[in-house]
Amino acid sequence: MALLYHEINGLIKNVKKWSKRKKVATGVANFPAKSYIIPEPMGVTLVIGTWNYPYQLSLVPAITSLAAGNTVILKPSELPAKTSQVMAQIINDNFPSNYFHVVEGGVKETTELLEHPFNKIFFTGSIPVGKIIYQAAAKHLTPVTLELGGKSPTFVLSDTDIKMTAKRIVWAKFLNAGQTCIAPDYILVDQSIEAPFLEALKNEIGCNYKNKADIEENYLRIIYNKNFDRLSNLIRTGQVYFGGNLNRDNRFIEPTILQNVTFEYEVMKEEIFGPILPILSFTNLEEAIQTVKERPKPLSCYIYSKNRKTINKLLNELSFGGGAVNDSVMHLSNTNLPFGGVGLSGMGSYHGKAGFDTFTHYKSILDKPFWFEGNIKYAPYTKLKKAIIKWAY
Ligand code: NAD
Repeated sequence: MALLYHEINGLIKNVKKWSKRKKVATGVANFPAKSYIIPEPMGVTLVIGTWNYPYQLSLVPAITSLAAGNTVILKPSELPAKTSQVMAQIINDNFPSNYFHVVEGGVKETTELLEHPFNKIFFTGSIPVGKIIYQAAAKHLTPVTLELGGKSPTFVLSDTDIKMTAKRIVWAKFLNAGQTCIAPDYILVDQSIEAPFLEALKNEIGCNYKNKADIEENYLRIIYNKNFDRLSNLIRTGQVYFGGNLNRDNRFIEPTILQNVTFEYEVMKEEIFGPILPILSFTNLEEAIQTVKERPKPLSCYIYSKNRKTINKLLNELSFGGGAVNDSVMHLSNTNLPFGGVGLSGMGSYHGKAGFDTFTHYKSILDKPFWFEGNIKYAPYTKLKKAIIKWAY
């Protein structure tokens, strides 16, 4: 919730400034006009949320859209049913329904909503459903922002600070029991430090979740049985280095590390979205980079190293939504950094000013007085006129 309040405060502080007309240069060809850009609301917007951070991932885009002057229909995920009900109650009781309204429901209700000609659709969720949304939007040529997922790699290079790297990765991976779209999905570690790195990961998990009470209070469960079963299967088909304990009754999956993993393993064929961390080692960084390049562009990528040259090489060669150097997940908390995917991990971005832009149409105006009209653009097109036009542009 802190991030949600942070976004709201940022919008309150900046919305007046962002909503102002912006003057831009005109150029000699249009003398004596002036030029400016008017930020304009898009109109009626549809925000479709997902379940893993149900308030944040529904309300941040919804509130950003309102701040940009739009009206919003919010369709939260139906999976955390009580959360969806609470949002519907608070919003529908306090806002006029033609301004901000929650429609609850699942596939059927979303499909019905998508038949309407919205002015903008903002969707957070899986890649397959993202494609359904994009197709439905295309019928009305509605612009969309798609915040999707994918497998986010983490490079751990031989010169890194092993203990600190393990600490930051363990926090980011097992937060929300791995049900975070930008969690490190898998690790590519330099083979020369694989053994001490695995040891450091194990120690760090031990520090975070020392006993049963820590697990009870600070560690989450898997959202529903279907995902629990999918994740259990991924553990079964891998080689467990640490963890692996499961309890279907309360959908508990222990923080789990898989070792000696290759891209052929089940766990590497889909986004994990759970507390399982596969470790792949490499001896040749070029080859490791190539394997990532051959796969869909990830939502995030993380690089742990002290070598600026190698860090820049990875940053320049790999395409991904966003990420961090020597940290994981936390780039999301800086509202100055546009947040979004690229390729299969999504299109468009939000947070802070990027969010305002996402929900705004920028109307461009050339504004001319009557007192002067150069005759150059009118026929007959003499050599001199052509030369002047060429010069003016
Ligand atoms: P999902 O795609 O199944 O559901 C998201 C929303 O779509 C829900 O509101 C749901 O009701 C609706 N929906 C589901 N099926 C639909 C259909 N056939 N037609 C119309 N609407 C439909 O999401 P999920 O799989 O539960 O969520 C996990 C995915 O979301 C992961 O891939 C994760 O990476 C991604 N995600 C991305 C971000 C981000 O910011 N990029 C954040 C969180 C989660």
